[in-house]
Parts: sequence; structure tokens; C-alpha cells
Amino acid sequence: MKRIAIIGAGIGGLALASALRDVALVTVFEKGRGVGGRMATRREGEHSFDHGAQCFTVRTTAFQAWLKPLTAAGLVDEWSGPVVNLEAGRLIGPRHWRERHLVGVPGMNAIARHLAAGHAVRTEVEVAPLGPSAGAMELVSTGGEPLGEYDLVVSTTTPHQTRALFAGVLAMPGLDRPRMKPCHALMVALDAPWRQDWIAAKVLDGPIKWISIDSTKPGRDRARASIVAHTRSSWSRHHAETPTALLGDVLFDALGRAMPAPLSSANVVKAHRWRSALVGKTERPGPFLDHSLGIAATGDWTASSRIEEVVLSALELARRIAATG
Ligand SMILES: Cc1cc2nc3c(=O)[nH]c(=O)nc-3n(C[C@H](O)[C@H](O)[C@H](O)COP(=O)(O)OP(=O)(O)OC[C@H]3O[C@@H](n4cnc5c(N)ncnc54)[C@H](O)[C@@H]3O)c2cc1C
Repeated sequence: MKRIAIIGAGIGGLALASALRDVALVTVFEKGRGVGGRMATRREGEHSFDHGAQCFTVRTTAFQAWLKPLTAAGLVDEWSGPVVNLEAGRLIGPRHWRERHLVGVPGMNAIARHLAAGHAVRTEVEVAPLGPSAGAMELVSTGGEPLGEYDLVVSTTTPHQTRALFAGVLAMPGLDRPRMKPCHALMVALDAPWRQDWIAAKVLDGPIKWISIDSTKPGRDRARASIVAHTRSSWSRHHAETPTALLGDVLFDALGRAMPAPLSSANVVKAHRWRSALVGKTERPGPFLDHSLGIAATGDWTASSRIEEVVLSALELARRIAATG
């Protein structure tokens, strides 16, 4: 069987690993402590927060079919309720969700954790840029640990990370074009349940652009409200180098100003920086595969920063890998 290394245990890397289960010997390398990548859930004491992707929608029958076993296993459910627009600290009207919005249960990373089970996934291993090779690709970690030989190495990282990983093998055209937008996530846990009658809000002014009441998602602890707020990328660009420890209180004040009613006191106030949160304009090139060089790539830059499209791009790459034997 072909030996395949997948770099990145986000939803794209794990969807690919699962799809290749019967056609290759797959090892997934992830530099972070856990799996999920940007489809993340983070614990802070007794509270957990989906501080990356908030939810996802389904537009294709292929993705619907892919989700079916996950839904049957209770790992995916609908998040529904009133969504509103906020401006100048006022609720200025409803915001209509025309599609069903789904979430991982009990956290967004539940799907990645489920997909990772049964695969060889090595966390806390950062793969170093590849060198030129005449035969099988030898992988090494940035710490110098040999990671084995592979017939195919797949990057599921951001465009600039993919470009750096493969620079010694191929100058991949076009990878300098998709610009990733940054975002900060503010995580707040209150000492009381959520009592307002909305579950999420678009904020039309100020640094915060989106508020999710995480504790209103299915399978979460409703006894104490947990809130995730995401910033506008223009604001995050200005604060790219500001230590995140300094930004928690700044964003908590901004959240207070955006809210139509005062917040009860907070047990947790933490900020997290996503340097590369969402892909900007992309030409949607689709997944990349070069069998002769032994490299391939997929990720949101190949399609869009929608979880559905990330999964479909990974499935398309798996189909092409399987088809070429
Ligand atoms: C704040 C935020 C909000 C979002 N909201 C939504 C939303 O509501 N709905 C939606 O559909 N999408 C949303 N998205 C986008 C969605 O989360 C992403 O498009 C999707 O999760 C990308 O998955 P991926 O597997 O391609 O990449 P990632 O999740 O980024 O996974 C790549 C992984 O590769 C690892 N890695 C990188 N370099 C190396 C290396 N050298 N060695 C080993 N590992 C490496 C990284 O640590 C990472 O875990 C949001 C994203 C963010 C950040």
C-alpha cells in the first residue's frame, strides 16, 4: 500500500485521512496539541469555547451524505434560534438565517476527534520543509526527528505554510495570491445563564463583528453563559503584534458596548489570535496533486473558508489519489 503523510489534523486533513483509509497507509502530523485546527474547541477551567469556526451549512448532497454517520452518532446537530443585528449598543432587528446551521456536539472539535480515532495521528510534531528527493519523500520534524519515508506528502495547511513546506521541491504557482485574513476570538464565561432571547448577533460597528452565545448550542452546559466574539479582520490586522494577553480586557469592553443589556460578571475573559483565520479572494484552484514529485495539497485556499468546501476539496483529492493507484 502507498505510504501517505498528511500534514495538518484540521477537518481537511482528517477528512482526507478517513477517505484514504482503505487505499493507503496514512500518518497525520499535527503541530498543535490537539486535532481540529480552526474547527476548534478550547477548555478554560470548567468552560469550553468554540473559538474558531462557529457552525456550518450544507449545500450539497455529497456533504450531506458525508455528515450522515456523524449525525447518526450524535456528533452533529442543528443550532437554531433568533439571530439579531446590533448597532451602537442597540438591538436593531432580526437577522434571517435562511439555511440550517449545524455544529459539532459537544464541541466543534468533536467531529475531528471522531475522525482522528483509528488513524495514526501524531500531535505536537511540526513537519519541516521538504528537501528535493529522487524517490520516496523523507520527512523530518522541525526538531530534527526523522518521521519516516512516504510515497506522497499532502499539505492541508494555509497557502503560505504549504508554499514554505514544498519550496525545496516545487515553487507552487499561485500560492502567494490567496491572502489570509486574521481574526481575534474573545472568550467570556459568565457566572449566570444566558437570559436574552437571541443566540447570535452580527455587530455592525466597532471592533467586534460577530457574537455567538456558545452555551445555546446543542449539547453545551447552559447553566452558565459562554460567549465567543470574533473581531473584524481590519481591527485584527492593526493588532497583529499586540500580545493577546493585553487584548482580553480591550475586547471585553468592546463586547460590553456592543451589547443591548449589561453582562453579568465574568469568570473567564480570554483572547486568542488567529493569524490566518479565513481565506480572502481565491481563484478556487481545487486540490493540487503531482504524483511524480510525490506532493499534494488541499485546504480552504483551494475553494473557500466554508467547512463544507474544505471537506469536499479533501474528498476530491482522495478520489484523485485513489484513482491514480
Ligand atoms: C475565527 C474563525 C471563524 C470561522 N468561522 C467559520 C464558520 O462559521 N463556518 C465555516 O464553515 N468555516 C468557518 N471558519 C473557517 C474554517 O474553520 C476553516 O476553513 C477550516 O476549519 C479549515 O480547515 P483545514 O483543515 O483546511 O485547515 P486548519 O483547520 O487550519 O488545519 C491545518 C492544520 O495544519 C497544522 N499545521 C500547519 N503547519 C504544520 C506543520 N508544518 N506541521 C504539522 N502541522 C501543521 C495546523 O496546526 C492546523 O491544525 C472559521 C475560521 C476561523 C479561524
